[in-house]
Amino acid sequence: MKKYKWLIFVIIGIIIGSIVFLLYPRIKLNNKLIKLESEYTPDVRVYNIISDLSKNVKTTNNVDTSKLGKYDVNVKFKYLFITFKKKYVVEVVDREKPVISLVGSEVGIACPGKEYVDEGATASDNYDGDITDKIKVELGDNKLVYRVSDSSGNTNKIERSIEYKDEESPIIELKGNSTIYLYVGNSYSEPGYTANDNCDGDITDKVKVSNDINTSSTGTYKITYSVTDSNGNNASVERTVVVRKRTVYNTYGDGLVYLTFDDGPSERTREILNILDEEGIKATFFVCGANEYTKRAYNSGHTIALHSNTHNYSYIYASSSNFFEDLTAIDNKVYNVIGIHSKYTRFPGGSSNTISRNYSYGIMTYLTGEVENRGYTYFDWNVDSNDAGSDVYNSDNIYANVINHLSHSKTNIVLMHDSGGHTATVKALRNIIRTAKEYGYSFKAIDSSTPVVHHGVNN
Ligand code: ZN
Repeated sequence: MKKYKWLIFVIIGIIIGSIVFLLYPRIKLNNKLIKLESEYTPDVRVYNIISDLSKNVKTTNNVDTSKLGKYDVNVKFKYLFITFKKKYVVEVVDREKPVISLVGSEVGIACPGKEYVDEGATASDNYDGDITDKIKVELGDNKLVYRVSDSSGNTNKIERSIEYKDEESPIIELKGNSTIYLYVGNSYSEPGYTANDNCDGDITDKVKVSNDINTSSTGTYKITYSVTDSNGNNASVERTVVVRKRTVYNTYGDGLVYLTFDDGPSERTREILNILDEEGIKATFFVCGANEYTKRAYNSGHTIALHSNTHNYSYIYASSSNFFEDLTAIDNKVYNVIGIHSKYTRFPGGSSNTISRNYSYGIMTYLTGEVENRGYTYFDWNVDSNDAGSDVYNSDNIYANVINHLSHSKTNIVLMHDSGGHTATVKALRNIIRTAKEYGYSFKAIDSSTPVVHHGVNN
């Protein structure tokens, strides 16, 4: 028997070994690479040959799926009174490509023979955020290739093809107004122009100018400016020149006296209206506002004409759009009070003013034409009471300035003012009227039959 004893030990050993082999648990963690921002639950399997033991497993981990990196997963489970532990290292990874997009169009256009000016691209990554500064651009055959990679090595690319062509027309810009008004006998002087092309740059020197202007005869003429760029694209613009006959009635007319009062209404307007009523005559008010005196004047048969809403030279003479905005504003104020749109106007400073040169060269030449185009008639004056000049407080001089310059052989348009400070004007008014009557003059408010008095334009 002794000789078989070792055999019994061997058999027992094999049996125990087999049992341990059969019962010993095997552990496996299936998900070791974790997608960024995903929900993570360790997928641990524990089993032996006989059965699945996974339900006894407890796991703990410090995985933060919002941050790339390595984390620990600890697995613990009990089986047959023995505690098993195992530690795994898992990794949160980013496998998503960055997104890259072009700024501007997919096809870049460049001038023939010139370099394409890249509009660039932008890139953003789910993990790194804006990575536009990581973009690398390569020039290929008629294309640009933009590549970018994120911090995890995921790459992406985009292409832009480039076409070398020029289909854009040059741009001609006119200096000065697009319509220029001249009087017969004036000479036309070109205010200038520029021409620019997307490919050629400044091509002003290639502009061809043609015109049929004849300043010795009234009419509407065209000046044509045209230019062609080096790739054959054309542009042309026109300017209109209107040659008009000068209408000045300085030395002849209807022999009537038209008293005109600028810059009101004010308290002086009320006093003036009283005098005009008492003397039974009509006059004209070029207003800067409208109130009850305006209404009273209108109802009494005086003419309400437009002067200015702001009377601010630096504003109204800076541009024609400013001027007409201001004129429309006073027109509307008057309309709201008397219910009609007056068609008579007077330029602040008169049409002959030179102050407007400080704000816009040539603007009076334009405005004197344009107010007429818009249906207004403007009046200057040929008898100046000087009540807004050095004689503002001197009623004797105001009286003399008017009386001495009246003439039976002209239309007498008398400039006076009815804004607040003009008490001397009010004081002189009755004597002016009475003396003029004695000299045989009649008075009238401006209407459509009144001969127009215009100054010469100086700007
Ligand atoms: Zn004025």
